[in-house]
Amino acid sequence: MSEKTLPFTQEQLNEIVKKYPTPFHIYDEKAIRANARAFYKAFDWAPGGFTNFYAVKACPNPYILQILKEEGMGADCSSLPELMLSEAVGLKGQQIFFSSNDTPAEEFVAARKMDVIINLDDISHIDYLEKTAGIPDGICFRYNPGPLKKGNVIIGKPEDAKYGFTKKQLFDGYKRMKEKGVKHFGLHTMVASNELNWEYFVETAELLLDLVVELSGTLGIKFDFINLGGGIGIPYKPEEEAVDLNKISGGIKALYKKKIEDAGLSPLRIITESGRMVTGPFGYLVSTVIHRKQTYKTFIGLDSSMADLMRPALYGAYHHITVVGKENAPMAGPVDVTGSLCENNDKFAVDRELPVLETGDLIVMHDTGAHGYAMGFNYNGKLRSAELLLKEDGSVVEIRRAETEADYFATLDYPGLKK
Ligand SMILES: *Cc1c(COP(=O)(O)O)cnc(C)c1O
Repeated sequence: MSEKTLPFTQEQLNEIVKKYPTPFHIYDEKAIRANARAFYKAFDWAPGGFTNFYAVKACPNPYILQILKEEGMGADCSSLPELMLSEAVGLKGQQIFFSSNDTPAEEFVAARKMDVIINLDDISHIDYLEKTAGIPDGICFRYNPGPLKKGNVIIGKPEDAKYGFTKKQLFDGYKRMKEKGVKHFGLHTMVASNELNWEYFVETAELLLDLVVELSGTLGIKFDFINLGGGIGIPYKPEEEAVDLNKISGGIKALYKKKIEDAGLSPLRIITESGRMVTGPFGYLVSTVIHRKQTYKTFIGLDSSMADLMRPALYGAYHHITVVGKENAPMAGPVDVTGSLCENNDKFAVDRELPVLETGDLIVMHDTGAHGYAMGFNYNGKLRSAELLLKEDGSVVEIRRAETEADYFATLDYPGLKK
């Protein structure tokens, strides 16, 4: 069981919404820091130092990246703007991982200029990188284990995934890179998304560790690190349980001793690029009920929409809902909680048991700290919300203002359009 509580009281929230109108996402700094510390503590045994490169796409706000940097995290990027955000908070060089795919030349050029760790997605990118940006002295390849590994529901079967090298391509690729004078090697894979089973990550690590032993032996190269990717899940539903990081870490530690130390391949750094697990549970989307509609069903209309949180509409994902001040009120029957897009799937919840809802009620959607605001879009002329930070001392700062019509029209140069 994961308890779905709020990091603020009703009184505090009433004060916050006076200053910052709903809808907005609000992030809990104290909880983000505590979680980051627990993550690092779980891996404090790892030789050469453990690093999580936070997947910037999960919550691309520099104020959040800065907090994570202060907790020792790097950044995992897959576009030029993500690289720029990481650079803005003072991350540099080897503190940044560039795990892109279908990469345009100018992004390789930028990545090389910044001297970040480049993770190639395909063997054909070796020539492409050499031609466009030059070969760095360190390289990582993304492995796609294909049928050797079962995928999970969100990411699907590895052999259908567009990502990564086959095993044979890894051998060819590292050999070519060695011939080109590359000195530092890394191996990456990511085969799961929102996975709650800790054993899955230990199995993935085993796959990579075995491969490092095989590649090192065959090619005579020394690996600096393995990167287990992201994909650690969070308990969106109250009946689910958070992944025990100590179990993942303990499992990997035992394998490391057996496979890496005994083969004389230590130190081999363990790194990850988790996004969801790092900030997801510590973000909340706060909205106001603006309509209550009764037809064949009961519809509760909010002032937010799937433009603020797309996961329920996109994947049918569950996000827990708390009606502020009615935490202990009796359930009043199932309702659909909707946004205002002209899309019938713009629903945050379908047939959800909730207390009696009235206009003006404040609704909090849980677990929006990753892949929440970040997935927002402007369809139907919907403007994106603000992002707030609940600081450790209980004060609240706006870390991104809400969009205005002028932002929406910024790329249009049309006479007569009022901005
Ligand atoms: C999305 C992504 C991540 C982060 O995934 P989470 O589920 O947020 O942990 C990490 N690495 C790569 C390459 C990704 O595409």
